[in-house]
Amino acid sequence: MLSPGSVIGIVGGGQLGRMSAMAAAKLGYLVHIFGPETGGPAAQVAAFSTVADYSDFEALRRFAAAVDVVTFEFENVPAEGLDVLAGLVPVRPGPGVLRISQDRLLEKAFLNEIGVPTAPWAAVHNEAELAEAVGRLGLPAVLKTTRLGYDGKGQAMLREPGDAAAAYARLAPKPVVLEGFVDFACEISVVVARGADGRVVSFDPVENRHKDHVLDITLAPARLPVEVLAEATRLGRLVAERLELVGLLAVEMFVTADGALLVNEIAPRPHNSGHWTMDACPVGQFEMHIRAVAGLPLPEAARHSDAVMKNLVGPEGMADWGRIVATPGLIAHHYGKAEARPGRKMGHFNRLFAKGGLPGEFGVTDAIRVGE
Ligand code: AMP
Repeated sequence: MLSPGSVIGIVGGGQLGRMSAMAAAKLGYLVHIFGPETGGPAAQVAAFSTVADYSDFEALRRFAAAVDVVTFEFENVPAEGLDVLAGLVPVRPGPGVLRISQDRLLEKAFLNEIGVPTAPWAAVHNEAELAEAVGRLGLPAVLKTTRLGYDGKGQAMLREPGDAAAAYARLAPKPVVLEGFVDFACEISVVVARGADGRVVSFDPVENRHKDHVLDITLAPARLPVEVLAEATRLGRLVAERLELVGLLAVEMFVTADGALLVNEIAPRPHNSGHWTMDACPVGQFEMHIRAVAGLPLPEAARHSDAVMKNLVGPEGMADWGRIVATPGLIAHHYGKAEARPGRKMGHFNRLFAKGGLPGEFGVTDAIRVGE
């Protein structure tokens, strides 16, 4: 258990690092951010920062020597860099967990091996394998890079056989993975934490709605039959246990029309779909993350309120900022980014409801309405 005054190193300097650093401060820890950007969202609220590239192993070594434990808000650190860190300081979650989540092929193979269902998939190393995979999985299907994809980047929808070759040529790096298209009823996620003592806690499953491939709103809790929610939670906890995770993990899933769950992706760090927990739970995802990493006990991941989370994306998202902070009931979070480029996550707000009082479909628009 790290004592107050210890230094937690966080690799990655974006909003997830910022909100983790704020949670760390609440528990008396100092944070050291490692990332390529000067004065970014996390560095603004951290005691120390190292500005260096993720592949600068000398800088990673100096960083490891200056902290008591290392965690991540960005998981695409080169494998050799992870090994450098892990050789010098406790790294939570461990390099093995990051390697799996960095690579869609390893991730899907791992999930299926532990009995977690995914969309049907095939590894594609060349055009012959692509043709074979399209023949086997059928169309439509989604072709995705195995590494470095996020928010819909690095993927292509294949509708007709003629779409395949051009999509394959465009996507990089290779190999890629072909996934059968899931005609889902909704998308949900579960955020799970596992402590150094092996205790696992899970926040309630939530529904996520996307706009232009970027998360737009989260409804907490997801309005689904209790059996579906229980199964989602079971799957999330199973993944955390089988990964022997120490830290926090988000598991994104598709829910089909008949209530079946297929895991799309896992992220071993705080997640945008867990931002509602900051205001609707006594201990939110960022504090849970820091607690797990610091070896503190994990309290129940209970919620005291229902919530709607709305992401503020790009210049349009920020255009309303002055009115958002002036609207009673909207709990605003700004990420401190200087420039609102299109598609960039700039902030979010939560609106809370009494537990059990999340509005039905027609109330969602009202819930996120910004005052005049
Ligand atoms: P990803 O980059 O894997 O998180 O995918 C981004 C979004 O694309 C998901 O949230 C889905 O809305 C959609 N998507 C990804 N994979 C599939 C699939 N196999 N079938 C249908 N939609 C998908």
